[in-house]
Amino acid sequence: MSINRFKEKVWLSSPTMHGEEQQFVKEAFDTNWVAPLGKNVDEFEKEIAAYLGISHAAALTTGTAALHLAVRLAGVQEGDVVLCSDLTFAATVNPVSYEKGIQVFVDAERDTWNISPEALETALKKYKGKAKAVIAANLYGTPAKLDEIADLCERYHVALIEDAAESLSATYKGRQTGTFGKYNCISFNGNKIITSSGGGMLLSEEEEVIKKARFLATQARDAAPWYQHSELGCNYRMSNVVAGIGRGQLLHLEEHRKKKKEIYFRYKAGLENLPVEMNPWLECSEPNFWLSCLTIDKKLAGSGRVTPEGIRLALEEKNAESRPIWKPMHLQPLYEGRDFIFVDGEDVGRDIFERGICLPSDIKMTEEQQENIISIIRGCFE
Ligand SMILES: *Cc1c(COP(=O)(O)O)cnc(C)c1O
Repeated sequence: MSINRFKEKVWLSSPTMHGEEQQFVKEAFDTNWVAPLGKNVDEFEKEIAAYLGISHAAALTTGTAALHLAVRLAGVQEGDVVLCSDLTFAATVNPVSYEKGIQVFVDAERDTWNISPEALETALKKYKGKAKAVIAANLYGTPAKLDEIADLCERYHVALIEDAAESLSATYKGRQTGTFGKYNCISFNGNKIITSSGGGMLLSEEEEVIKKARFLATQARDAAPWYQHSELGCNYRMSNVVAGIGRGQLLHLEEHRKKKKEIYFRYKAGLENLPVEMNPWLECSEPNFWLSCLTIDKKLAGSGRVTPEGIRLALEEKNAESRPIWKPMHLQPLYEGRDFIFVDGEDVGRDIFERGICLPSDIKMTEEQQENIISIIRGCFE
């Protein structure tokens, strides 16, 4: 069966607005609190903290800014080692370099595609006394083995930074992701499950952490009548207009998650009996299904007959956007020479990267469009 080209592009994951966003933005304009901070920022912080069940939140310009402040606050200095998820977006690990720390990359596990607790323990032993922090990401909205990871960090006296940029509203053993670390980061970038057009938050149980984050995020001004600085600050606070968009989106987070989940299960059913697997998760967790992904079975992918790139191009030809799996950090030219810790002689991240692809997961995609996408994918295997 030949599928027609989509008239309207089907996106990987694009913003979905509802109307309330504009109400909150309008309020900011009406009261002239367009900038800098203001009611939307205060309320957005409170609403997110309440939603997650965490005590304190600082709204920032980006998720990357949140990760940067987390690395700063964890005390990472020149030459300090930070053990990082390897299979992730560069934004997870770049902030270590902003502080002149050194990333050590820790391989992914098959069960969740996230940092392997076993490899992490190997890394913690190897870098005992040298590692300052661990940064663990929840890839594509699937929670990592967060309690095991948090336990390991506690046992080895290393701060945990949870990168929940992709996993807002996902839970692990009933608890929200973005609450397991001493420092937790989320993102409201344009393609995330909800968006403020751009933005992020740093979350912590500790009031001191968030106080210090706000201080550093507003140029680190000392308590003096003139502009005096004893520390190096940044300009990282979220604007009140942006926070208004975020507040409107938050009202629809559950609905977005439900739709993402439906998309995932439609792919799973539609791709059944093909030599592929969908991205896995643990029974004790509930992902937010931000992106639906698949991996092509080893033999077939190895033979080069069906490849992720082949599927990507077939979808692109019909005007649908898909994306390669994040290229592991230890394979990035930027990080050549960094240590990479893996177990059982197997580079899991590389394998997932070589056989995997992120499928169109936009919640505005219709069932009919998705059925056609499934047919296009099936066509690649004929
Ligand atoms: C999007 C993302 C970030 C960065 O968030 P921004 O708000 O875009 O700066 C960090 N880590 C991961 C895993 C992400 O997907």
